[in-house]
Amino acid sequence: MSASVEARTKYEAVIGLEVHLQLLTQSKIFCSCSTHFGDPPNSNVCPVCLGLPGALPVLNREAVTMAMKAALALNCVVNAQSRFARKNYFYPDLPKGYQISQFDEPLAEFGWVEIEVDRTKRRIGVTRVHMEEDAGKSVHEGFPDSDRKSYIDLNRSGVPLIEIVSEPDLRTPEEAYEYLTRLKTILQYLEVSNCNMEEGSLRCDANVSVRVAGVSALGTKAEVKNLNSFRFLQKALAYEIERQIEIVDKGGSIPQETRLWDSREQRTYGMRSKEFAHDYRYFPEPDLMPLVISAEWKEEARQSLPELPDNRRQRFIHEYALPEYDAAQLTLSKYLADYFEQVAKASHEPKLAANWVLSELLHLLKEANREILESPVSAAQLAELLSMIQEGSVSGKMAKEILAEMFSAGKSAAEVVSEKGLAQITDAGRIAMLARQVVAANPKQVEQYRNGKTATLGWFVGQVMKATGGQANPQAVQEALKKELG
Ligand code: ADP
Ligand code: ZN
Ligand code: MG
Repeated sequence: MSASVEARTKYEAVIGLEVHLQLLTQSKIFCSCSTHFGDPPNSNVCPVCLGLPGALPVLNREAVTMAMKAALALNCVVNAQSRFARKNYFYPDLPKGYQISQFDEPLAEFGWVEIEVDRTKRRIGVTRVHMEEDAGKSVHEGFPDSDRKSYIDLNRSGVPLIEIVSEPDLRTPEEAYEYLTRLKTILQYLEVSNCNMEEGSLRCDANVSVRVAGVSALGTKAEVKNLNSFRFLQKALAYEIERQIEIVDKGGSIPQETRLWDSREQRTYGMRSKEFAHDYRYFPEPDLMPLVISAEWKEEARQSLPELPDNRRQRFIHEYALPEYDAAQLTLSKYLADYFEQVAKASHEPKLAANWVLSELLHLLKEANREILESPVSAAQLAELLSMIQEGSVSGKMAKEILAEMFSAGKSAAEVVSEKGLAQITDAGRIAMLARQVVAANPKQVEQYRNGKTATLGWFVGQVMKATGGQANPQAVQEALKKELG
């Protein structure tokens, strides 16, 4: 499949994302069951989340506060009154036969997220943020066929979600990727969701259409589901845009449909037509009062917002004189930013701290498949190592080895240095003596140096370093040699 080059430039894509996020409350949205992930099937259930007749929902206040924090951080207007509604459909994992969601009166609207692609900043509109409950899960497990079983696990039924719907403002797969990344970063900073796609706490559906560039009317969209990673989102969109351009350019039309991404075959395929789309028969939830948010409650949520990624990035640039790139990388995760700041403060060496965190430490973490929160080297320990580099008691090269050992053995820099005898030789007397010996043993090179071939100095430094097994401070060696050579 491939659209012609002319067709690709003639058309543009229009993309809008619908993102579902699981909120990090202890208990479910309408009952007090635990939201803990990974417990035995159907152990966290009660009449409310099992959908038993007569059970009544009670709204979880903490879930509303978290949803409100997300909405405020996404620059939304939080409505003083919103309303829950029943979205009716039949599915085995939905015991009540309807999902409690919000419909025409959502919690919040009119927000935006700033993205930057190819050095261009754009604001992507957030249409709405609304609250809803999650459904259960159909589980199919076991093979071979003899002990295969399917069942419904309702632990997830009633877990609080927010849905964040974007305006159709995105134009490329890269922009969609960037938008989702920014969204994830913001929500992690807020600590309202862990945004883990593998565990399903972040789910994303992509709506995409194409139109002749410059035209303002929207084309018919396809909705792509089953996007299990950020990369799949990007790939699925790229595939889908190509596919649609090819059809439209040949004079065909795009049916409105839901499509699934097949990561093995790297393509999307049609799942169901939307022309006979479900009629969800939304109606107001009679068992819940309208959700009224007082000015005080909203203000409380606003006050509790932490410093957000954009602000933190700017502050890192100013306060620590970091290059924009470093600041952007460090603030991508709140925990990474926290770690960096501890190292920077304890070592008083922000630039060195940024370099070591972004290169050496992240490299070691990646190899060990660990997150920054699981780093065996604490921020204080890394700061100690950086101070040793700064004082000149270890070289940068030695410090890399020392850090690797700290990482694998869980030891402090000082411990590794004394165990391995790795301390850099800074003793001026000893270095001067070595310099004298090397100079005395190489009259030919001394002659060259004195005749103006000053590049020979580097060779002398190399000789002294060799004599110390690389453990002398190169700066001090150079000084001593210059003196010796006159
Ligand atoms: P639906 O009723 O099918 O769910 P919505 O109007 O609620 O559609 O929009 C869902 C998502 O699809 C939103 O993110 C919106 O920005 C996006 N969207 C709407 N129309 C289009 C279009 N023609 N092309 C691309 N995305 C679209
Ligand atoms: Zn329950
Ligand atoms: Mg919709």
